[in-house]
Amino acid sequence: MAERIRMESNIRRAVKEEEFVLHYQPKVDITTGVVCGMEALIRWPQEDGTMMSPTEFIPLTEETGQIVPIGSWVLEQACRDIVAINIDYGKYLKVAVNISPKQFRQPKFLEVVRNIVTETECDPTFLELEITESMMMEDVEGAILTMKDIRSIGIALSMDDFGTGYSSLAYLRQFPLDTLKIDRSFICGMMESSADASIVSAICSIGRNLGLGVIAEGVEHEFEVPMLQEMGCTMIQGYLYGKPLPIEEFRAKFCEKNSPSDHGAATIAEREKYAISKCS
Ligand code: C2E
Ligand code: CA
Ligand code: CA
Repeated sequence: MAERIRMESNIRRAVKEEEFVLHYQPKVDITTGVVCGMEALIRWPQEDGTMMSPTEFIPLTEETGQIVPIGSWVLEQACRDIVAINIDYGKYLKVAVNISPKQFRQPKFLEVVRNIVTETECDPTFLELEITESMMMEDVEGAILTMKDIRSIGIALSMDDFGTGYSSLAYLRQFPLDTLKIDRSFICGMMESSADASIVSAICSIGRNLGLGVIAEGVEHEFEVPMLQEMGCTMIQGYLYGKPLPIEEFRAKFCEKNSPSDHGAATIAEREKYAISKCS
């Protein structure tokens, strides 16, 4: 109990003092190997120089409601960073931001998102929200309306950790989504377990047949790539291509000339066409 109280008060200070930082992990087009986007992942620098992982503090912030201001900060920072990257390098990358259930259920969620996009002058098509099924089950109809509103602004929606929650096919048909994100646990088990491989293959088929992009998370080995490609997976993310990095390192590694995101599309129109066909 004492540890929890200490942590809560430290988090309150961290929110006020803006102590959190974002790291970015590339998302790669499976057919071209080109970086087409990135996921923003929060980190909390500690006094001893280490970084606290979100798995250690996000659950508590969900319980206390502190995730709401933290989530807004993440969204705003991610929008600022993607606008700067796309302008500086003439790119059309998308940034994916994780949304917590509490954040998604806030009555003002849509208004907050809209205000942040406007204030940061972020083209909504640069932004993608990663949501999970569990956050929608309490009020399915309400969740569908929120999702429709988000997409109507031009922001993409991705279903994170797909396969681990309800994975209700009846709901999947109704949810206005752009991408399914296959959970890392299935990708890890794919080589050893034919059951995991079958699940990955089935998710790829469902995605393809529903006209959705399918991204595999946690790809660590080269040999997983042709297997995923064969199954119809469209994008990959994992340590094979890059670990989450601070923004400056991400820019140096993935945005500079001849980097894996430098796909040579000369005009905005070409980039737009590329981004729409590959990253939606
Ligand atoms: P997630 O959204 O499923 O993110 C994927 C996690 O897998 C990240 O851990 C990422 O660093 C890790 N990962 C990616 N590729 C590989 C790989 O090849 N191998 C291995 N072993 N791991 C890989 P991370 O950054 O520790 O984040 C953990 C979770 O914390 C996230 O899971 C997400 O649920 C949550 N989270 C992170 N940032 C935020 C945020 O800004 N807001 C909210 N609400 N949640 C966040
Ligand atoms: Ca995620
Ligand atoms: Ca996951």
